[in-house]
Amino acid sequence: MTTGSGERLGIFGGTFDPPHIGHLVAAVNVRHALALDRVLLTVAHRPWQKVGSRPLSPAADRLAMVRAAVAGVPGLEASDLELRRGGDSFTADTVGELLDEDPSRQLFVIVGQDAAAGMPTWQRVDEVRSRACIVLVERPGAEGTLPDGWTAERVEVPRLEISSTDLRSRVRDGRPLDYLVPPAAITCLTERRLYRDGSP
Ligand code: ATP
Ligand code: MG
Repeated sequence: MTTGSGERLGIFGGTFDPPHIGHLVAAVNVRHALALDRVLLTVAHRPWQKVGSRPLSPAADRLAMVRAAVAGVPGLEASDLELRRGGDSFTADTVGELLDEDPSRQLFVIVGQDAAAGMPTWQRVDEVRSRACIVLVERPGAEGTLPDGWTAERVEVPRLEISSTDLRSRVRDGRPLDYLVPPAAITCLTERRLYRDGSP
């Protein structure tokens, strides 16, 4: 049996195809503002709501980029939990696994504004709401918010108008990623030849 740590643990889920400083700035600032012990960047194995809308990079490549992006940053960790579970990635399952591991944890599910607006469509979202605190960060250019009556912590973070979608088209066009993506993650995606020649 776990004795319980009372750990304050952030879950920042995403496709991270690729990760960028918008993700990282949000994660470190939420960690600081809410005094979280750690924030897990949980890489979706199969982001079921995106499947079919565009080709996705393999989950192992996305995890490798997130690992490279957070290396050496205190309190940020790449999580392979959803890859190990396989199949469609539901935050409700991730919350369940993390609480099974240590029931004394306090969980904080961090969402950008666009993801927040989509939360009612998540699988078993009531479990997420009842078992974790929702943390909302604003995102420039994003519409929408949480539905009426939902409670969330709002954390002000520097507003960075950066998206993975734009970064993928930058690679395709040969435009620079510098200062938008950490250097180690740029090296990783270059070595893996991601986003080139009609790939995602
Ligand atoms: P894509 O353009 O492929 O959808 P993305 O940049 O939106 O990629 P995701 O992996 O879809 O990145 O997002 C993961 C989480 O990070 C979501 O909660 C999203 O709202 C949040 N997020 C992404 N970019 C930013 C940003 N620039 N500022 C704040 N939050 C962000
Ligand atoms: Mg997105």
